Amino acid sequence: MSDRPFCRRCGTLLTERVPAGDHKPRWCCDACSFIDYDNPKIIVACIATVGDRVLWIKRGTPPKQGCWAQPSGFMENGETPEQAAARELFEETGAVIDPAKLNLFLVGSLPAISEVYLVYYGELDDFQVATTDEALEIRLCDESEAPWDQYAYPEVIEATRQFYRDHAKRSYGVYRGRYVDGVNTIERVN
Ligand SMILES: [Zn+2]
Repeated sequence: MSDRPFCRRCGTLLTERVPAGDHKPRWCCDACSFIDYDNPKIIVACIATVGDRVLWIKRGTPPKQGCWAQPSGFMENGETPEQAAARELFEETGAVIDPAKLNLFLVGSLPAISEVYLVYYGELDDFQVATTDEALEIRLCDESEAPWDQYAYPEVIEATRQFYRDHAKRSYGVYRGRYVDGVNTIERVN
């Protein structure tokens, strides 16, 4: 019981029990009735394109510092996923994209770590970027130039490869992604 958390509202030690009408144990506050639900987190990634090329960043922060990826991060409260994708792109590279111009590419599931990820894509009007603490280098890469062997996230590598194939045709599917036993698979759903 040493890791019993405290209530975020009132500071009382929480009790683990199944709340009325629920079916799973939750951390409940007997003082103020707050229930500290622990639900999956949502990660949003932004594939920004300039012509045939895709924006890649060399990650400056853990995890996977020094590896390459597309800008991504956790959604904030009060955002739409498109706003979150545009915000992460801007925070990491300074590139500006209108959230209304972003399209859904993939919904991925990572049940082992209780995360869901959404991948959006959109064309940059102009490539105005600057490196940041989060992006030590920023490159535009076509498929053959991309640093696949230093890719940060094996969980989404197939999605990124598929994006290049769709982008070459300018005809895009919507995909479902999975990551099981170290292998990323994707399946077109629309
Ligand atoms: Zn409380």
